Amino acid sequence: MRIIDRVLSGEDLSIDEWVDAIGNCDIEEIRKAASEIRDSIYGKKVFARGLIEFTSYCRNDCFYCGLRKSNRDALRYRLSYDSVMECVDIGYEIGFRTFVLQGGEDNYFTDERIAEIVRDIKASYPDVAVTLSVGERSYESYKTLRAVGADRYLLRHETADSAHYRILHPDAMSMANRMECLHNLKKLGYQTGAGMMVGSPESSLRTLAEDMVFMKSLDPEMVGIGPFIPHSSTPFRNEKKGSVDLTLRMVSLVRLMLPHAMIPATTALATASEDGQLLGILHGANVIMPDITPKEERSKYMIYDGKKITGDEAGENLERIAEKMRSIGYELSMERGDYIP
Ligand code: SF4
Repeated sequence: MRIIDRVLSGEDLSIDEWVDAIGNCDIEEIRKAASEIRDSIYGKKVFARGLIEFTSYCRNDCFYCGLRKSNRDALRYRLSYDSVMECVDIGYEIGFRTFVLQGGEDNYFTDERIAEIVRDIKASYPDVAVTLSVGERSYESYKTLRAVGADRYLLRHETADSAHYRILHPDAMSMANRMECLHNLKKLGYQTGAGMMVGSPESSLRTLAEDMVFMKSLDPEMVGIGPFIPHSSTPFRNEKKGSVDLTLRMVSLVRLMLPHAMIPATTALATASEDGQLLGILHGANVIMPDITPKEERSKYMIYDGKKITGDEAGENLERIAEKMRSIGYELSMERGDYIP
């Protein structure tokens, strides 16, 4: 049986088989198959999420990230409660029905503070979905935030290879904890997002194969995949960028393995390639996350160098984004766009 058919039939591939599939697959063949399966489930819709990056403080020190606490050059900000609510009011008016609240792991944002924001968004706009992306927290914390209405949670695992994990993170962080967080999120009924960088230092086809095996067992409802892009104020400043081609391959293979997953065409993809957003959709993605953070703060949320903040990734350019989607036969959808099981 062809590898595509084996993946589509839900078969578990071994690490070696994934290495072979990722390295040797015909990119056009998997692109077509990924598009077809996505269209058969979600139609020609690309779902828009309003992204609010509400804090650039982080207590962690991931070696690849511009927000790491050791980066003394990073510009730090926190949006006030009122400012977050204003973003939501404006975003709702524009038509967004999903808001993604993303930030570093900032101790200021206790459960109480985040819960207040989530609860009040849901009270004002019961028809929206709230996605959180605020890192590793305790089971109790996730439970509290779920109880006040958070629907989804993004927590990219970044790598499922323990030796590779150690290259990307300081000793204070642990892959076991991250995996446990992901399992806790699933247990609590969040639509859960995993995902990884492609081409991060010392990654290989084998580490990507391990990502595939891990995600097959986790069965996340969302998967974010972007090329690694170095940041000049991190230990990885001189490392090579991840390949766009390999990232697109991974998008298609994840779509084939998890046909129902919500997969964004990530900002990293759009930053690495002029046509990254469209290419992501053409290879099987079905979500975009326009940035609706206030413009004064947006430039400070620099997780990697050159991150696009005002182009076709910006909330104020929705009509242009919609036009681009139409040009490839897709429709920009402002619906909540929940995962279809
Ligand atoms: S990747 Fe996330 S947890 Fe790590 S330093 Fe950056 S913002 Fe913090």
